[in-house]
Amino acid sequence: MHETIFDKVLSGALPADRVYEDEDVLAFRDINPQAPIHVLVIPKAKYARFTEVASRPIEETGRFFAAISKVAASLKLDNSGYRVVINNGCDGGQTVEYFHAHILGGRKFTWPPG
Ligand code: AMP
Repeated sequence: MHETIFDKVLSGALPADRVYEDEDVLAFRDINPQAPIHVLVIPKAKYARFTEVASRPIEETGRFFAAISKVAASLKLDNSGYRVVINNGCDGGQTVEYFHAHILGGRKFTWPPG
């Protein structure tokens, strides 16, 4: 797997506005926010796409989603609500080939997404 921007954020080679870290995940603010609060969550055990989740250990995936929920709560988004987005592959709009989830909050979102 080639090195991505998120590998560099994780190693510290690239600065990022980190909001949460534990042994499984790192969360940091998106450099091009699409909402007042826009945070990315990446697993420390790297894989490229959501497509691969089915072959990952289920406990790892569970901890990843639990971390998303914890990060959203720490950003004080629980009452107002928020959106969690995972872009997968070309049609999904994925631009960084390191699996990640977006937490978007601080405004009302519409449906369907663009
Ligand atoms: P995606 O399109 O789902 O692959 O999301 C990639 C996200 O990474 C985009 O929202 C970018 O704005 C964001 N991004 C790219 N480079 C950086 C960076 N150095 N630090 C923080 N976010 C970044």
